[in-house]
Amino acid sequence: MIKREEIYARACGSLVGGVDSPVRAWKSVGGTPIFIDSAAGAVLRDTEGAEYRDYVSSWGPMILGHASPDVVRAVSEAAARSSSYGAPCVGEVELAEMIKGRFPSIDLIRFVSSGTEATMTALRLARGCTGRDRIVKFAGNYHGHNDGLLVSAGSGALTHGVPTSPGITAASARDTIVARFNSMDSVRRIFEESGGEIAAVIVEPWAGNMGLVPPAPGFLEGLREITRERGALLIFDEVITGFRVPEGGVQNVVGVAPDITCLGKIIGGGLPVGALGGRAGLMERLSPIGPVYQAGTLSGNPLAMASGIATLKSLTESAYDRLERAASRLERGFKSAAGRAGLPIAISRLGSVLGMFFSESVPSDLESVQATRGDLYPGFFHGMLERGDYFAPSAFEAMFVSAAHTDEIIDATVANSEAVFAKLANSL
Ligand SMILES: *Cc1c(COP(=O)(O)O)cnc(C)c1O
Repeated sequence: MIKREEIYARACGSLVGGVDSPVRAWKSVGGTPIFIDSAAGAVLRDTEGAEYRDYVSSWGPMILGHASPDVVRAVSEAAARSSSYGAPCVGEVELAEMIKGRFPSIDLIRFVSSGTEATMTALRLARGCTGRDRIVKFAGNYHGHNDGLLVSAGSGALTHGVPTSPGITAASARDTIVARFNSMDSVRRIFEESGGEIAAVIVEPWAGNMGLVPPAPGFLEGLREITRERGALLIFDEVITGFRVPEGGVQNVVGVAPDITCLGKIIGGGLPVGALGGRAGLMERLSPIGPVYQAGTLSGNPLAMASGIATLKSLTESAYDRLERAASRLERGFKSAAGRAGLPIAISRLGSVLGMFFSESVPSDLESVQATRGDLYPGFFHGMLERGDYFAPSAFEAMFVSAAHTDEIIDATVANSEAVFAKLANSL
């Protein structure tokens, strides 16, 4: 048993801000972060022995729940055969084939070690293929911490109110043009001004880093059309959405095929993996076939591949049914609990990922997200935490349900939300 104040103080003595990823420091909700000792299924256990129903799921990867026996077995067996070779292994081929089987837009894949690396490489590839420099991204979309993409970004960058980090050169910022999510008008204006210079449009097809914001009807189709017309590439960042739905990705749900798809999170099942994929003619521009350079000492790591393979294998139809059941139960439960409390909330949902907003309706872009009552979130977070439910320590993050979230788990969380919503409603 280690008190969290004690370990956090120690952490601050040797890790920047006591953490290795900013949102974990609880800056936007206040308080001392819990330190996790272990987790199983839908439950986290911290160093003080307290247990929490987990709605972060490591920000998405733990879709089967924690320490899923099949994943533990696969990773243990792989570890016994060594954790890295720096030479090809069969797991890379297997995982690539499994991904291709669910993403018809992908012929060839390159594995990397994070989502950040996937989007970074996708941009380099797009620039290398088109001979153009500029990129269009959307305000509130987060694609990892790459220089050129950390402009008007979501996730931690959003809650910390640092839309553009110091240390990013004027040149990188200049090559990034920020459009408004769900606004084809804003995209058209940008193409009218700078069409000939735009290498790619990168988008989260469901934006998962400013809460969860769905694409407006026709928006993704519009992006496909304008990029095709103007010789730019379309990149879907499906790092959150990939394998979150039984169809594979949002692209298969809406029937819009991007040129490049970025994946991460679920495909590593909790180990560090990212990937980019697309049609052969494009992906073959990457080294060693083409001139666009990219490499990685731990890329295609055998443990990570084993974890990813075991995770995707477990994502059967019945697993997706369980995920749907749990997530829709949470959605309905929260809506009726908030309704009884007289607290306006709106919930968006894509399979097992949910966005909850303190507003009458689900917002459509960064501005409308920021107009919601995000100030109520710390009260929600701490109220739920005290009752044993762990949500993201930041208002504009999604909620992730896993296949290990049983009806009992969801019902306990919903029951706890009654008092929390009532208290928030009173504070209005
Ligand atoms: C998490 C995330 C990334 C970055 O992935 P990391 O593995 O954290 O580098 C990129 N894009 C989206 C949409 C994400 O949610």
